[in-house]
Amino acid sequence: MDNQLNDAPNSRHAVDVKRMLHPYTDARAHEKAGPLIITDGSGVEVFDNQGKSYIEAMAGLWSVAVGFGEKRLVDAATRQMSSLPYYHTFSHKSNEPAIDLADRLVAMTGRKMEKVFFTNSGSEANDTVVKLLWYRNNALGQPERKKIISRKRGYHGITIAAGSMTGIPMNHGGFDLPLPGFHHLTCPHFYREGFEGETEAEFTERLAQELEELIEREGSETIAGFIGEPLMSAGGVVPPPAGYWRRVQEICRKHEIVVIADEVITGFGRLGTRFGSDYYDIEPDIMVMSKQLTSSYQPLAAIVMTDDIYQPVADQSSSIGAFGHGFTASGHPVATAVALENLDIIEERDLIGNAARLAPMLQAKLREFSDHALVGEVRGEGFIAAVELVANKTSRSPFDPVGVVGRELAAHAHAAGLIIRAIGDTIAFCPPLIATEEDVTKIITRFGLALDATT
Ligand code: PLP
Repeated sequence: MDNQLNDAPNSRHAVDVKRMLHPYTDARAHEKAGPLIITDGSGVEVFDNQGKSYIEAMAGLWSVAVGFGEKRLVDAATRQMSSLPYYHTFSHKSNEPAIDLADRLVAMTGRKMEKVFFTNSGSEANDTVVKLLWYRNNALGQPERKKIISRKRGYHGITIAAGSMTGIPMNHGGFDLPLPGFHHLTCPHFYREGFEGETEAEFTERLAQELEELIEREGSETIAGFIGEPLMSAGGVVPPPAGYWRRVQEICRKHEIVVIADEVITGFGRLGTRFGSDYYDIEPDIMVMSKQLTSSYQPLAAIVMTDDIYQPVADQSSSIGAFGHGFTASGHPVATAVALENLDIIEERDLIGNAARLAPMLQAKLREFSDHALVGEVRGEGFIAAVELVANKTSRSPFDPVGVVGRELAAHAHAAGLIIRAIGDTIAFCPPLIATEEDVTKIITRFGLALDATT
């Protein structure tokens, strides 16, 4: 542990402020506030460089399924580092953990998936998906079929194509995104987007209609794919309205539009099922996985695809001479070895079952805050949830400016030893899958203290 005083001139705290540009951070505010430096972690807890402990109710960034300090993952990495620390998968080369993981992921989907492509991050994976579809459609003699449909508030990452699919203004403004050809539909959030007097079923139907109209307007022959998170997460934890995925799939199938399930957060148990696609009965053509795949102990993402996606790509690569796409670390042996061990732990300890068992408690306890004056909506499914704070419960009007109250609550939570995530004024919860009933109780108690302290 780094026990330096944070205000010492050459402390890590001071050097961080001097040297680092942080992702998703207000740079000017950071110059004043400085970082929270986390030095250790164990189970659901992390510790800062002053020795203070926090329950990590966000599993890091929605990802540390097996908790912190898991020795088996350290050992798996060490073993792999000792035998083969690195090898690539270009030009027919391969390595054993990458092969085993590809086979295991296909089997885990329980679907007609055939092939896996590895990247380092969810963003790279989603950029790869766009390129795969463009490449495939060129191969199929449909070069005009390139457009992608996603949703407002959907999150698919921040690289150029992934950032274009993301539907969050902060990821577009100032970056000249989205690129042309990326379309965003209404966020399927009944509380925010439903019309007065509209039922949830009518809302679903209106969204389906909007999708049909967009396809009609653009021409179905120009649309390559529809991408969605089974349950929208980073955009504010938004479970879709009933029947939403059934309708989306019906429409996409009718127009031969590829369905991509972005399982980067929902994969490997977040909803108490293996995949979000299992929870919502989605039959995707492509599944994108990351985060809980390695519990983020190593950077890794995987694109899992059907034969129908793969075959034209294979044909095209033969005619060109190679599939001209890949990363130095695609299928990295240490990352894939850690993923295999992580999946063993998830299975052996039945962590998906644990999430399913604790989900009703997390959801019910959070809903007990519904009557609080600041709480507009409590929502979630499985082991992921959110509490949306509002200025006025009746009119549902948000705070002005958005985010100040959320940040205040997060600061009170921090003081109480709880890390949650404020997405504007929506507070997200996504505990590690190893959490116990006692951990959930602590999360709720500390959140309650923070909420009461918020003005
Ligand atoms: N897709 C989803 C659903 C995500 O939640 C995220 C990250 O939160 C990404 C893609 C991007 O992943 P990465 O941050 O690894 O690029």
